[in-house]
Amino acid sequence: MTRLPIDSIETLRLRWNPSDPSSRYTALVRIKSGDLVGYGEASPILGGEHSLGIVDRDIAPELLGKDAHDTSVLYDQLLHKCVKLGPEGAVTGALAAVDIALWDIKGKALGLPVYKLLGGAWRTQIPFYSSIGGNHGRTVDETVRAVEKRLMAEKPAAIKIRWDGDRTTQDADLAGDIAKAKAVRKLVGDDFPLGFDANNLYSVGGAMRVGRVLEDLGYLWFEEPVQHYDIHGMGEVAQRLDITVSAGEQSYTTQAVLDLIRAGVRMVQPDIIKMGGITGLMKCAALCQAHGVELVPHQTQPIVGHMANLHVLATIMHFTKPAEYADPSGRMDIAFTAPPKPKNGCFRLDDRPGLGLEVNTAELDRRLI
Ligand code: CA
Repeated sequence: MTRLPIDSIETLRLRWNPSDPSSRYTALVRIKSGDLVGYGEASPILGGEHSLGIVDRDIAPELLGKDAHDTSVLYDQLLHKCVKLGPEGAVTGALAAVDIALWDIKGKALGLPVYKLLGGAWRTQIPFYSSIGGNHGRTVDETVRAVEKRLMAEKPAAIKIRWDGDRTTQDADLAGDIAKAKAVRKLVGDDFPLGFDANNLYSVGGAMRVGRVLEDLGYLWFEEPVQHYDIHGMGEVAQRLDITVSAGEQSYTTQAVLDLIRAGVRMVQPDIIKMGGITGLMKCAALCQAHGVELVPHQTQPIVGHMANLHVLATIMHFTKPAEYADPSGRMDIAFTAPPKPKNGCFRLDDRPGLGLEVNTAELDRRLI
């Protein structure tokens, strides 16, 4: 029997623009097995070093010499080793990075794309929606212009407007938010698919008021209306409104996603680089199919995790909404040769092995911190 012994695990913390201290961070791992190299990504939230620290200190020593084929066993062994750190966040981000890299290695070893290893693709052309953040700080006109710019540049299958407001406030400007939602609907026309992401900034009452307007405007979904930790409130809004209410980008385990479903949320959005990688997201896919719940994963930034997400989405039977495409900035183009490009509202997966990413290591290493 051929084994894929894990020879080394490196953590890579990157700044995408080396000359700009305010540039966003990315947290990657690079795992080697013989001549094979796999890349994975952890959540970059607050710099990304939290998950990478867990990989360095607690996960890497356990992984050396283990068989890269054993993704499910390793996932549960490592999760339960670290469970008392609290599995909600940095731990599952660390598991995500390792898991994605191991799937990349497995695919390369077999000469198959990851979606084949997961059981096959229902589609290799994945429609995407442009996720447009920062609208809290914009006027109505500025919001419309921001949407127009992405609409023209990316030709997405749908658009989501996000608020990204101050998380310590609530219902700060309901009338202003409604005015922006109306102006964006007017810009794109009656039939264009739209989503609205409150980023957790409403009370239940505020969410009901905005949600009723979104229903009238024909928005397709209303994302995270209330605080993510208020599972009961999220479920109440979901149950009382007709519009699809979504949540789950801040859920880090299969069990936490199940809590949202039990509360009444009918569309969940776990993020592959936050909640256990390909293994974690595939568990969620089964959970959602069994409960008749839409799985529309959150996507943090268009790099390694983005590719892993597309491979999982290719395998989901009920693909009800486009994939998220967040904040493009050319980051993928710099260090990853020939990444899939958004074209005519879609990303297209090909049959390159593993995740299908080729890495320019010199460019990648130049961004190391
Ligand atoms: Ca969101």
